[in-house]
Amino acid sequence: LIEIKNLQKSYGKNHVLKGITTSIKKGEIVSVIGPSGSGKSTLIRCMNALERLDEGEIIINGENINNGNKISRKIAMVFQHFNLFPHYKVIDNLINPCKIVRGMSDKEAKKLAVDLLEKVKLLDKANEYPSSLSGGQKQRVAIARALSMNPEIILFDEPTSSLDPELAYEVFDTMKSIARSDLTILLVTHQINMVKNFSSRVIFLENGHIYFDGTPDELINNTDNRIKQFLEKVY
Ligand code: ATP
Ligand code: MG
Repeated sequence: LIEIKNLQKSYGKNHVLKGITTSIKKGEIVSVIGPSGSGKSTLIRCMNALERLDEGEIIINGENINNGNKISRKIAMVFQHFNLFPHYKVIDNLINPCKIVRGMSDKEAKKLAVDLLEKVKLLDKANEYPSSLSGGQKQRVAIARALSMNPEIILFDEPTSSLDPELAYEVFDTMKSIARSDLTILLVTHQINMVKNFSSRVIFLENGHIYFDGTPDELINNTDNRIKQFLEKVY
């Protein structure tokens, strides 16, 4: 589904991604971990065509997304800081993009929005504004909105890292509930528990390179010193 070949990205003199090559199959749930500044967010921003690539390519379903040529609706993203529209009610945060991006009618969009809010257990908040929701609830709305685009791929960038543990757990639960065999998920996280309980594969980025790529068990039981040192910090 996703092929990344020799992806390189710099910001000025700062060479952030130094040749990332990997492929991800449909339905895989892949965690991306690594120290702060290692390029995790840059990698998934490149995948969502939010950044230009300097070199290499990203091919999704045979289509090249180089240079900002976004394959719009196939990929949805959920950020660390919930980016809901503050001046729209919760339900309109779903309805409006469905109408604008997917060209749905009012009725279709509303039905989908109701279904998805039910799925993330927030139908009772449909007519509230985002400012009256908890961080975890906002993030669940953001997940519902991502799903409303009917994506093939969802990219999560530290979706729970600004939440306290209980709210993070609610969001994590919601994330687990949306996993399906035809939905591919990439999750950037610092939380090793999420890596273990959610993903079947984990990529460890270090200094712009893939340092490790394997199962969560292989990561946790790894005897490599760099990996052990990293895991001690995040546990
Ligand atoms: P964190 O765990 O702290 O979120 P990260 O692995 O996601 O870190 P990135 O956000 O990908 O790291 O950043 C990698 C490097 O690229 C950092 O040195 C950062 O300062 C730099 N960088 C990221 N975005 C930009 C930008 N828009 N302009 C200039 N430099 C940037
Ligand atoms: Mg980041």
